[in-house]
Amino acid sequence: MTTVPKAKVFPVSTQVNDRGHLVIGGCDLVDLAAEFGTPLYVFDEATLRAQAEGFGEAFRSLHADTTLLYACKAFINVALARLLAGYGLGFDVVSGGELALLRAAGVPLDRVYFHGNNKTPEELAQAVEWRIGHVAVDSFHELALLDEIAGRAGIVQPVMIRVSPSTDPHTHRLTTTGVLDSKFGFPIETGQAKEAVRQALAAKNLDLEGLHFHLGSPIFELEPYAEAVELVMGFASEMREQGLELRQFSPGGGYAIAYTEADEPPPPSAYAEAIVGAMKRSCASHGMPEPTLLIEPGRAIAGPAGVALYTVGAIKDVPGVRTYVSVDGGMGDNIRPALYGAVYEAVVANAASEPATETVTIAGKYCESGDVLVHDARIAPVEAGSLIAIPASGAYAPAMASTYNLNGRPAIVLVEGGRATLIRRRESYADMMAQDVV
Ligand SMILES: *Cc1c(COP(=O)(O)O)cnc(C)c1O
Repeated sequence: MTTVPKAKVFPVSTQVNDRGHLVIGGCDLVDLAAEFGTPLYVFDEATLRAQAEGFGEAFRSLHADTTLLYACKAFINVALARLLAGYGLGFDVVSGGELALLRAAGVPLDRVYFHGNNKTPEELAQAVEWRIGHVAVDSFHELALLDEIAGRAGIVQPVMIRVSPSTDPHTHRLTTTGVLDSKFGFPIETGQAKEAVRQALAAKNLDLEGLHFHLGSPIFELEPYAEAVELVMGFASEMREQGLELRQFSPGGGYAIAYTEADEPPPPSAYAEAIVGAMKRSCASHGMPEPTLLIEPGRAIAGPAGVALYTVGAIKDVPGVRTYVSVDGGMGDNIRPALYGAVYEAVVANAASEPATETVTIAGKYCESGDVLVHDARIAPVEAGSLIAIPASGAYAPAMASTYNLNGRPAIVLVEGGRATLIRRRESYADMMAQDVV
């Protein structure tokens, strides 16, 4: 077996076989492309498990009372929900749709936290009717609405208050959430968080369990977490005189992953030390009991496990400018490069032992000039029919997929031990017309 090129950004099970093909979960990607077609998303079960266990063990070794929640918005479907629930994970949802999916998958809904800055009355009523475990309340409007809905249902709904600690995690402007100028959370700085705690404690049909914040994503630095944890724990301590008993505490998600070989995300142990260290120091200095700690990785679980696989078609050399290698997917299955300027690596899946001697631009097939998956990719020589693998594609790519240009969304397979299981079939032309009313 040859060494895996750019191994750092590929799933843990990745190998190169004696035909020079990339192999993930014991499955040759060339065979997967032939069987399921491309574009194809391949999820490695070993990586999903390793990431979930890695975060769980890192935090629990420092604070046994830690609950791991998977943020569904990174990517969810019924098979993945069952798999992750089987690992003992709870879930974050941000819509009635995600909640309905978990319910259909048979996930116990007492393990679910409902987030979002504008949950609709219908979504909240449905969540209460289904007895969702926890709602992270994000506005005064929602506080009053949920209190009324819970009252009508004759239950007391456990809630968290989402606060905004005004901490800048130094990530992309469009994925920053915990600063003062944000649509998310009650700012501590303005006194609105204090008022929210007061109202939640006074609400007859709400049971305030604790505080939540989420700074944004991906966060490569540890200081913003430590800083925000200390600030929010200090706030929790002040709120004790209002009657707050902090049973649960969540510093959200946002844990970074390596998209390129140059990326150096902190390991789970480093995040755990920063967060648990700050939490324990704050509890000790304020004389507070240590709460249940919730951590909410989405990207860090799904991201490294997913590899996008495309077939090369047209190759266009613009002399003296660049070579465009066009593939059969693009912004419809991965909008991140066009939306955030996200950077990925690429490897020729059918020639993984060949040296990367070419510099090309990997373009999609959509009618937008911005539809480029990788600028200046260093890859082995390709021709029409070659297969391009783009690793670290599991999070926020299929989850944000669209039917733009009426290209159907890709098929998704889960691989493990040489077995590939189709967990989402390719969207057909008929699927795309199914909602049209004539
Ligand atoms: C998006 C989100 C997460 C997950 O973020 P990742 O970067 O995928 O880890 C966690 N918690 C909340 C409230 C979120 O909105």
